[in-house]
Amino acid sequence: MRDRLSVLAIGAHPDDLELLCGGTLAKYARLGHEVTMCHVLNGDLGHFHIPRKELAATRAREAEEAGKLIGARVVNLDISDLGIYPTEETKLKVMDVIRQAKPDIIITHPPNDYMPDHTITSQVVFDASFMASLPQLKSEHEFHPKVTPIYYMDSLAGCDFLPTDYVDVTDTMELKRQMLAKHESQVTWMKEHDHIDFLDFMETQAKFRGYQCGVKYAEGFRRCETYLRNLPVRLLP
Ligand SMILES: [Zn+2]
Repeated sequence: MRDRLSVLAIGAHPDDLELLCGGTLAKYARLGHEVTMCHVLNGDLGHFHIPRKELAATRAREAEEAGKLIGARVVNLDISDLGIYPTEETKLKVMDVIRQAKPDIIITHPPNDYMPDHTITSQVVFDASFMASLPQLKSEHEFHPKVTPIYYMDSLAGCDFLPTDYVDVTDTMELKRQMLAKHESQVTWMKEHDHIDFLDFMETQAKFRGYQCGVKYAEGFRRCETYLRNLPVRLLP
């Protein structure tokens, strides 16, 4: 195992990673690991009034600012909301993100999360991470010589998700809060569309996961336990 890990987190929309694993990513960064945050979709349907093109640009900027707080590289695949399908084209795009980052660990949505952008992202990441390891499948980037272990981050509000692993994020909770707060457009959207306080929503979930493992704030994860993805070491911080 390398001392400096490459950590690749792939979420559906800008803000999903901050909400569901931001404290863990901040912790990796603080420990000197290299963090890449990729959002596959551009979030252009997440508002009542702002036109889609303008919203996509706003959200790209919000994601950049959030990533900057922990020194993460931010990758935006810029697919329109609800425009992701598990096609070869999409898988090859995600495969190239993986080949570029050469990750030791990949974090993504669980396969049973609440809406199709999340579940299809999960499926595409699973498929693409296998594809990334195949030397004869040529692309712009050199193949990644391993099938990378995947950890599924929590689902929205923790629904139908029982973690196998927890990360104590008490010491990076403030940073997680700041990262999520960068997504100003979504704080408004969640209030108007879902009638929730987005920051309180995030904090409540982190507190609940914290209670489950005996710390103040935590994030929950589930290992993807397929052949080639199990390692006899813990990769989470
Ligand atoms: Zn989302």
